[in-house]
Amino acid sequence: MSQPTVAIVGRPNVGKSTIFNRLVGHRVSIVNNEPGVTRDRIYAHADWLGTRFNVIDTGGITMGDAPFAKQITAQAEIAMDEADVIIFMVDGRQSITSGDDQIARILYHTNKPVVLAVNKMDNSKYKANIYDFYSLGFGKPFPISGSHGLGLGDLLDQVLRKFPTGMDNHKDNSIHFSLIGRPNVGKSSIVNAILGQNRVIVSKTPGTTRDAIDTTFKRKHDVFTIADTAGLRKRGKVYESTEKYSDLRAMKAIDNSDVVVVVLNADEGIREEDKKIAGYAHNAWKGVIVAVNKWDDVKKTTSSQHNFRINFYNEFKYLSYAPVIFVSAKTRLHLGQLLDLIKRVYHNQNIRIKSSVLNNVITDAISLTPTPTIKGQRLRVYYATQVAVGPPTFVFFVNDPHLMHFSYARYLENQIREHFDFMGTPIHFISRRRS
Ligand code: GDP
Ligand code: GDP
Repeated sequence: MSQPTVAIVGRPNVGKSTIFNRLVGHRVSIVNNEPGVTRDRIYAHADWLGTRFNVIDTGGITMGDAPFAKQITAQAEIAMDEADVIIFMVDGRQSITSGDDQIARILYHTNKPVVLAVNKMDNSKYKANIYDFYSLGFGKPFPISGSHGLGLGDLLDQVLRKFPTGMDNHKDNSIHFSLIGRPNVGKSSIVNAILGQNRVIVSKTPGTTRDAIDTTFKRKHDVFTIADTAGLRKRGKVYESTEKYSDLRAMKAIDNSDVVVVVLNADEGIREEDKKIAGYAHNAWKGVIVAVNKWDDVKKTTSSQHNFRINFYNEFKYLSYAPVIFVSAKTRLHLGQLLDLIKRVYHNQNIRIKSSVLNNVITDAISLTPTPTIKGQRLRVYYATQVAVGPPTFVFFVNDPHLMHFSYARYLENQIREHFDFMGTPIHFISRRRS
């Protein structure tokens, strides 16, 4: 189910984020002349001639004020750990620097394919420089220009040729889920506790050298797959505690999941970073469950869970559909219930409601609370129908989509939720003018 991942690595200012933006099609990271400026996004989806893949701009993962050498070592290691193909980028207007050499030396230790991109080759003036870069030892250098968009086609053709075989969007019948959350909330402990109690099915895709990152297991009659378990293994690398890296892990895991479990630490309550990570899950339209871990560690009263829930829904208004469950990896509290919940949310994401039943609910809802008027014009809902699952997506045919006020759409959503079990899944609403 996972798509190939490409990481761009290179010393500061060679043009990594410029290329990243080109690859993902729109400006998502901040390009600035000053080296080391923080980027707001480092991971995104890209598409080249119909092949979909993910791109990481490793330059966006920095570690406070660590020295230069440490920063680029960490970035090269992230590329080696996270990518299927690495684009090593240098600046074609300069000769090879010690920073380039340092990265090259680290990349010699990878068994992942490395494609060398020589950037800033804006015109023929710099053409002859290209031969110098053979000495880095990564074969043919690909001349590109990020600012002019030159040479990217040839570079990407080469990158695509290097993708491992056997990776595609093949979806098996198992329920794919992942655990996301800040470092140390207990994600890997939960995974280990779950895998320790259930029968793990070992499956290795032939022809791939990459680590098996998904782990499949059987529980009663259900088959589950935990996405990105490799990412949960602690390698003891310096970058593992950086915030951007945990964002990256979360985004990769979400990509490969039907249901996302957002893990919070009961000891520490809700932090800003939790909100950001939960936001990724919500925006990806996946099923969402909130697991409050280390519940064994909390001095509890009869109202502790109730209070935690109230506080949670207060802080995470947009996640009102997500159930909150209290677990402990240590005592295995509620881990079985967590799997039951994952199954139920997966099911809910895939419910199909018959149009006749849906329209009865909508008609009743409208008679209970009449449609709004804007500037004397009343919204008319003629018909509603479900057009997709995962997430459940409903199209409302109306006289004028502008009249579907946000709050009325919310009301209709709540009515639908009252009649059908959509717990844990976002619902997508679309208003269309009836032609
Ligand atoms: P990063 O630090 O490696 O991510 O580099 P940036 O993408 O932030 O680019 C560093 C500087 O190089 C910026 O001023 C860019 O405008 C500039 N730059 C990027 N690509 C090119 C290119 O193809 N040609 C030229 N002349 N400048 C470029
Ligand atoms: P991750 O970084 O989110 O994968 O977190 P870990 O699974 O590595 O756990 C971080 C720390 O929390 C470790 O010291 C665990 O032993 C501890 N921990 C994890 N789950 C629990 C739990 O349910 N109860 C308690 N008391 N400690 C836990």
